[in-house]
Amino acid sequence: MNVHDSERMLGVLRQAGYARVDDPLKADLIVFNTCGIREKAEQKFYSLLGRTKTMKRDNPGLKVAVAGCIAQQQGAGVKERAPYVDYVIGPQNIDRVGDALLGRKGIFTGDNPELAQKDLPAERDGYVKAWVNVMYGCNNFCSYCIVPYTRGRERSRPADNILSEIKGLAAEGFKEITLLGQNVNSYRGELSFPELLRFINDIEGIERIRFVTSHPKDLEEGLIMAMRDLEKVCEHIHLPIQSGSDRVLKHMNRKYTFDEYLRKTEWLRKAIPDIAITTDIIAGFPGETGDDHKATVSALKEIGFDGIYAFKYSIRPMTRAAEMDGHLPDEVKSERLLEILSLQDQITGARNKALQDTIQEVLVEGPSESDPEKMTGRTRTNKIVNILPSHHVVSGMLLKVRILKGQRHSLEGVAINGL
Ligand code: SAH
Ligand code: SF4
Repeated sequence: MNVHDSERMLGVLRQAGYARVDDPLKADLIVFNTCGIREKAEQKFYSLLGRTKTMKRDNPGLKVAVAGCIAQQQGAGVKERAPYVDYVIGPQNIDRVGDALLGRKGIFTGDNPELAQKDLPAERDGYVKAWVNVMYGCNNFCSYCIVPYTRGRERSRPADNILSEIKGLAAEGFKEITLLGQNVNSYRGELSFPELLRFINDIEGIERIRFVTSHPKDLEEGLIMAMRDLEKVCEHIHLPIQSGSDRVLKHMNRKYTFDEYLRKTEWLRKAIPDIAITTDIIAGFPGETGDDHKATVSALKEIGFDGIYAFKYSIRPMTRAAEMDGHLPDEVKSERLLEILSLQDQITGARNKALQDTIQEVLVEGPSESDPEKMTGRTRTNKIVNILPSHHVVSGMLLKVRILKGQRHSLEGVAINGL
């Protein structure tokens, strides 16, 4: 979501006459797009921000803007802490990054319901995959989470705007679309989310459709059937469970039990046999007992996710969990996180290994970062595949790939031919 917000801000800035430079020393404007989901990101940001103070001394024309969730959360506080900051722009005001530069020093952190109605330009990275916003904000107020406070209320983007943007992307040659929202299955436009998927499925040129994130409480039959029936909708769902303990889930205000979650994964696997299911876990939520943690460990074993993002619970201002009793020492959180991550490493490794000798459809994205001799892409189930060197493999191609090796974090394969 944040990476795409940056693409949108780059688009808005280009319209305002700016162009992107690779070297911050050459910039007239530096925009920090910050994440506030955990405290660590915040610490990193402030240490980077400090460097711009001396840059400004050497280049008095330089302007510094702080955007994103930290900007929203701290508002004028950012300027108090770092007076050399010129602009503070919250995530609901990314459309105003151009106005912000018209000379007035300012703080843009107000509620901005019009954002969802606007078609912001975007300067996207690459030309194979594109992110497209379908909804902004969140109404769920999970007790640990800052997003509803920083990104504001849930607002859906009109279906016509989404569809015309995707048609434009298809015309430009993009092959894969990822629909973005904090909770895409609570999309409420003139169309329901499954209906929206149906219309996108009919857009010529688009080969794959993905969406993030889905909230387990709202995952319903309509979406599962759309995933089963629409050939372009990929067999992958990111469905954050957060914890395997009903007691913790209740305190988190997630509105489902472990059993309800489990039943939904069974339903998904029955309807879409090859589906990959990934999730998010929070280790060491306030009041989490050893038994609660064990429940999470056994949930991981029982469900067998294809991948997880797991993090230590991080205290966030304004949230209800911040006020709860039973905050755990960092060592306990670290220990639990480590156990979760090493167990999942084995599970992911085994699931990837099971793909050896299968043939997968891969959309080629570009040279692999770890080995530029190889091209890299993803399966429909969103697994990274590094493809052994072959002259006919280029970005944007859909290939049949025979998987030779299934490793912990990626697969390796050889192209058979174009599809
Ligand atoms: N809307 C999405 C998630 C957005 S935040 C959803 O509900 O699934 C992405 C992930 O960050 C969450 O799933 C959660 O696991 C993690 N997260 C959010 N707040 C956190 C906190 N205070 N400490 C640790 N992890 C957190
Ligand atoms: Fe945060 Fe919960 Fe909303 Fe996700 S659904 S953004 S975790 S409040």
